[in-house]
Amino acid sequence: MIKLNGLHLLLTYKCTYECDHCFVKSSPFAPGTMTFEKVKDSIDQANKLGTVDSIYIEGGEPFLYYPLMLESLRYAKQFGFKLGIVTNGYFATSVDDALLWLQPLCEIGGITLCISDDDFHSGADREDSAAQRTQKAAEQLNLTGIEICIDSPCLTSDPHKPGEIILGGGVRFRGRAAEMLIDDSLPKFPWDNFDKCPDENWDEITRLHLDSYGNLYPCQGIILGNLNNQTLNEVVKGYDHATHPIAAPLHSGGPAELVRRYNLDLKDAYHDACHLCFLARKSLLPRFPDALGPEQIY
Ligand code: SF4
Repeated sequence: MIKLNGLHLLLTYKCTYECDHCFVKSSPFAPGTMTFEKVKDSIDQANKLGTVDSIYIEGGEPFLYYPLMLESLRYAKQFGFKLGIVTNGYFATSVDDALLWLQPLCEIGGITLCISDDDFHSGADREDSAAQRTQKAAEQLNLTGIEICIDSPCLTSDPHKPGEIILGGGVRFRGRAAEMLIDDSLPKFPWDNFDKCPDENWDEITRLHLDSYGNLYPCQGIILGNLNNQTLNEVVKGYDHATHPIAAPLHSGGPAELVRRYNLDLKDAYHDACHLCFLARKSLLPRFPDALGPEQIY
């Protein structure tokens, strides 16, 4: 079932960066940006559901479409939703200039600003990065700022699991990461180890992403419905994890079950569950075009 609390609008797939770990393969050249009509319609539908309490605006980089981002936040605010934005803060050429960009958010009020600040976004200079300047401006304005930090994959250890090799850094090997961050120095594990999805609860979904093509997905690239030909209510009421061709195996046996159920030629070793899951889904794309997409993610 879906008990929807949060709707995350991917305002655009376009981004100033082309990060190796990006789940949705955003880049300066990526097509796919929402119109304001589509934003308003999705917020209206979220409001009618009666269960949604937060609307997040993300991407891609939503500040690239600044007027659209602001109007979307204003529109959502009137319904009393909690609001959030995810940004890399690219616009912060100085703290003073960042104040100019953030001040209108204060006027709307109640917005949480999630700022991506890590090796991928800020490069070597983590002390004086655009993300740090955005963070400082947010503090001056008393805006709630949360840092999102994903570091490059590395080997680490856990004192509670002595001797066990652990993959650190927080990267999930899906999307562009499955192609760009593969490194033979990182550990791999047999495919049938991955018998659980680490991040999604497929029989009780609480948040969905909506992209400019109308796709609704919990984990990026696994489509549960499309707002171009269904209502949000129809998608929410119609979802049954047991009959969805991708959710059903993921729920019962993780990515390994995707391999078994569809007899995929992927009985090898992988960096993590998402690595196997992504490659399995990519190979299933032609078979389940309504359940997997959009193509650019793959
Ligand atoms: S295992 Fe698959 S569905 Fe689960 S979080 Fe990873 S990529 Fe998403």
